[in-house]
Amino acid sequence: MIVDMHVHTLVSSPCSVIDPVECIERAIELGLDGICITEHDTHEGAGVVKEIAAGFPEIVVFAGMEVMSREGHLLVYGYGKDIGGVPQAAEIVDMVSSNGGIVVPAHPWRQPFGWYSGVPGTPIEDTAFPKLFSVIEKYNGLQTIRQNARGKEYCDMMEISGIGGSDAHRLDCLGVAVTEFEDNPADERELAETIKSGRYEAKLTDRYFEMHEE
Ligand SMILES: [Zn+2]
Ligand SMILES: [Zn+2]
Repeated sequence: MIVDMHVHTLVSSPCSVIDPVECIERAIELGLDGICITEHDTHEGAGVVKEIAAGFPEIVVFAGMEVMSREGHLLVYGYGKDIGGVPQAAEIVDMVSSNGGIVVPAHPWRQPFGWYSGVPGTPIEDTAFPKLFSVIEKYNGLQTIRQNARGKEYCDMMEISGIGGSDAHRLDCLGVAVTEFEDNPADERELAETIKSGRYEAKLTDRYFEMHEE
């Protein structure tokens, strides 16, 4: 099952111009089996897209969220409530993992808003990062080729899993980075379990490399 794990729509991300209906139609055209809507600090947009998607049996829409923590952006899966107020990453991890969800740091090497973006120059290994996260966003469609290579190196070095998502804010970016799951999660709870299992592979598509030619 191929899922774009990181998508913003105009419903609740003012930085995105993606219309929810077009988003679903394009995802189907691209051959994606699922998309996860991860608006900033709210599930609102995801709820709207899920309702629309009820008319499209070809695709599964999951509700996730991208939360602003003090240390950087975090993707949250399998946790139904909104998280605001820019808490510390450790607090978010506690809250989400004790409720069965999982927190995955978004675009850890992208500046700004990557991990410890407020402290440029601090190597990630010297922060709380390795303790907090057992899965990272290995490939992000808005990271450079170098930053995504760093994600792969980190996963290999730490022997942890990594997911992939486009972080699309424009329709042409949808699906440039994806996660190919061995399982077929049907809802947010199953998606979180699947992410924890490590039974998947993050992928960057040819379109990603066309967009990021150096
Ligand atoms: Zn972000
Ligand atoms: Zn994002």
